[in-house]
Amino acid sequence: MERVYNFSAGPSVIAESVLKKAQAELVNYGDAGMSVMEMSHRSPVYQAIIDETESILRGLLKIPDDYSVLFLQGGASSQFAMIPLNLANGSGKIDLVLTGQWATKACQEASKYCEVNVVGSSKEQNFSCIPALDKSKFNPAADYFYICANNTIYGTRFAELPECGNVPLVADMSSCILSEEINVADYGLIFAGAQKNMGPAGLTVVIIRKDLIGKAREFTPTMFDYAIHDKNGSMYNTPPTFAIYVCKLVLEWLRDEIGGIAAMQEINRKKAAMFYDYLDSSKLFKPTVHGKDRSFMNIPFVTGNEDKDKAFVKAAAAAGFVNLKGHRSVGGMRASIYNAMPVEGVKKLVDFMRAFEKENV
Ligand SMILES: *Cc1c(COP(=O)(O)O)cnc(C)c1O
Repeated sequence: MERVYNFSAGPSVIAESVLKKAQAELVNYGDAGMSVMEMSHRSPVYQAIIDETESILRGLLKIPDDYSVLFLQGGASSQFAMIPLNLANGSGKIDLVLTGQWATKACQEASKYCEVNVVGSSKEQNFSCIPALDKSKFNPAADYFYICANNTIYGTRFAELPECGNVPLVADMSSCILSEEINVADYGLIFAGAQKNMGPAGLTVVIIRKDLIGKAREFTPTMFDYAIHDKNGSMYNTPPTFAIYVCKLVLEWLRDEIGGIAAMQEINRKKAAMFYDYLDSSKLFKPTVHGKDRSFMNIPFVTGNEDKDKAFVKAAAAAGFVNLKGHRSVGGMRASIYNAMPVEGVKKLVDFMRAFEKENV
């Protein structure tokens, strides 16, 4: 069978050249005489891999020197606890914007360890927008201000960052990291599960300002203490060695084949514009998000008729466009068009949708 166009929300598409490189090196890495999977994480050859991964990531995102990069496990979801355990150590209060299921989970988990002040919510709009924020509700003594930068399920993104002043901004970038230029210095902490834009599942990347490290609360489990991982170069215990290696290949692809994040951003804007332009003009498919809050990565859309939705998802899959079924909380369809989805994949899907529309309105 040929490779399909995979619009999965995560784990998601990885560039074919990355997979081929991993395949070519799978059995015998360089002159190591063994697979990366079989290597000691403490060997010089593996140390070179993790060092290079960090170095390319720092180059791509222009990460300042006063930030640490940690390669962790436990998924983005473990960060929902790890962040408050490490950062909610002053007033014991945090500010948070409720923009979807991932922010809600982060809110629930943080509530076990600190007082969460929800400064805005779009729940009543079924999270179809980013709520307008009233700065007077922000707590200047908050230990941090939490957002989910791109809402994978609902297809919204923060187009502007909240003005939280000296309160460190913490952002879940699981589904948008490396997709557009950011200024790392605007954030206290950025985290992302790797399985959307960085590689395979099993790796979670944390970028944290160094002054926020070393203040974990006394009951914090050792494995949940940023200082432990920072001090040990992400090797307090065995890191997800193979996932980090594939992440390195993805970063090399982004740097060498795409040309870096500015170039990636342009491609992503082009893909999203092509998709939204069609949705806005379609008589069959309707986007669920409008205006400036639209995500460049995850695009939910509906026909308004469940049977038609189902028929479309089925026909699309048969034509080689897979994983288009929407999340159950939004219904309809969702196309995740992460970095590794080529322009051509989006163009072909839109052409297919046009043809489907002609036969079904
Ligand atoms: C996928 C996702 C998560 C969950 O990631 P896990 O690694 O499965 O825990 C959290 N936040 C966002 C924004 C996501 O897209």
